[in-house]
Amino acid sequence: MQPLTNRSKIVSNKKMTLAERLYLPGIIGGMLITMKHFLGKKTTIKYPETRKEYSEIYRGRHVLKRDDEGRERCTACGLCALACPAEAISMVAAERKPGEEHLYREEKYAKVYEINMLRCIFCGLCEEACPKEAIFLTKQTVNSGYRRDVFIYGKELLVESVDADKRIDVSKRQTEEVKNFKKEKNQRHNR
Ligand code: SF4
Ligand code: SF4
Repeated sequence: MQPLTNRSKIVSNKKMTLAERLYLPGIIGGMLITMKHFLGKKTTIKYPETRKEYSEIYRGRHVLKRDDEGRERCTACGLCALACPAEAISMVAAERKPGEEHLYREEKYAKVYEINMLRCIFCGLCEEACPKEAIFLTKQTVNSGYRRDVFIYGKELLVESVDADKRIDVSKRQTEEVKNFKKEKNQRHNR
């Protein structure tokens, strides 16, 4: 009968030699492979003492950015949530009140903004969808935890520090086109 694939093997029924019955060739072959890896270049690192350098465009946990004046950039438009294939983002919008102009850049802001890190697949689509350059992924990883609720990241974990020295640099994540656009002061986006 014709075999269905060309991967079939004819099994030999010949008698095993003494060495084969002692499994010596197999054991010695296995030990040689072990020794080769033991003496060769290590591919593992001693985490957490040693850490690998992540790429500048590594897609780790998110940051909600502030503008140069320290105001939250997010305007709660919901485009990131709409783009998210994992439905990991949820938010509640609120209107900025008089006197809050120094806190929020736009007239509407996210009163609540949450990302479920257990759902997130770190695809970066939220970053791409955002028209306000408010959300970016970063080189930071999500911490492990014993409870599911600790993976719901709210604004207290997502919004970057108001302290200018502690801001997260995302310039390497942006294309030259975006950087040049940001220099155009006549664009409403940049005002
Ligand atoms: S990185 Fe992808 S999966 Fe994660 S929140 Fe953003 S859009 Fe959703
Ligand atoms: S992060 Fe960007 S896309 Fe998401 S709600 Fe805020 S402004 Fe809109």
